[in-house]
Amino acid sequence: MKKVALSTDNKNKVKEIFAILSKYDFEIVTKSELGVTEEFEEIYDTLEGNSKLKAEKLREYCDFAVLADDTGLFVNALNGEPGVLSARYAGEHGNSDANRKKLLKNLEGKLDRSAYFKTVIVFVDENGDEYVAKGILKGTISTEERGENGFGYDKIFIPENMDKTLAEIGAEEKNKFSHRKRALEDLKNILGDRYDSSSC
Ligand code: IMP
Repeated sequence: MKKVALSTDNKNKVKEIFAILSKYDFEIVTKSELGVTEEFEEIYDTLEGNSKLKAEKLREYCDFAVLADDTGLFVNALNGEPGVLSARYAGEHGNSDANRKKLLKNLEGKLDRSAYFKTVIVFVDENGDEYVAKGILKGTISTEERGENGFGYDKIFIPENMDKTLAEIGAEEKNKFSHRKRALEDLKNILGDRYDSSSC
C-alpha cells in the first residue's frame, strides 16, 4: 500500500478525504501525524498556487506522496468574493461563523445568489512529479443558515438542483458529489490505475 501525506490539519477536510479515498489503495497520514507543526501560509492569489505551496512544503518533510487541497467559495454577485480569501473573509483566519455572517450581509438585497465551490488538489507523487486536479460544485447561497452538519460555508450553500444546504444534507451524501469528491475523482482519472489495489 502506498503512503500519502495530507498537507492539512483541518479535521473536517481530513475526514472527508479519508472517507472519499477509503476505497483506494492508499495509507493516509496527516500532517500532524508526521510531526509537522509549521503553518504553511497561503501567500498566492490562486487556489492552485496555494495548493502547490502546501504540497511542496510538506514534501520537504517526507519522501513519499503528498496531497494538498485548497478550496474557495466564489459568489457571482460579489465578483467572485470571497474566493481565494474564503478562510479569511471576515478577517480572522478560520472564523467560519463570522465568514458566513459577512457573506449573508453582503448579499442582502441581491437577486443573484448563485455561487460555486472550487477545490484544487495538488498531488506530488513519490518521485516528485506533480499533478493538478480540480472539482467544482455549483449552487446558490441561502438567505439564512440551515443545518448542523459540515463545516465552513456548508450551512449557507445549496447545491444546484437541491433545496437543502450542505449542512442539512450531511457528510455521507455531500461526499458523493462535493467539489472535493469531484477533484479527487479528477485526480484518480489523471493517475489512472497506479494506486488501484489490483495493480500493486
Ligand atoms: P481552505 O481550503 O482551507 O483555505 O478553505 C477556505 C475556506 O473555505 C475555509 O473557510 C473553509 O472553512 C471553507 N471551506 C473549505 N471547504 C469547504 C467545504 O467543503 N464546505 C464549506 N466550506 C468549505
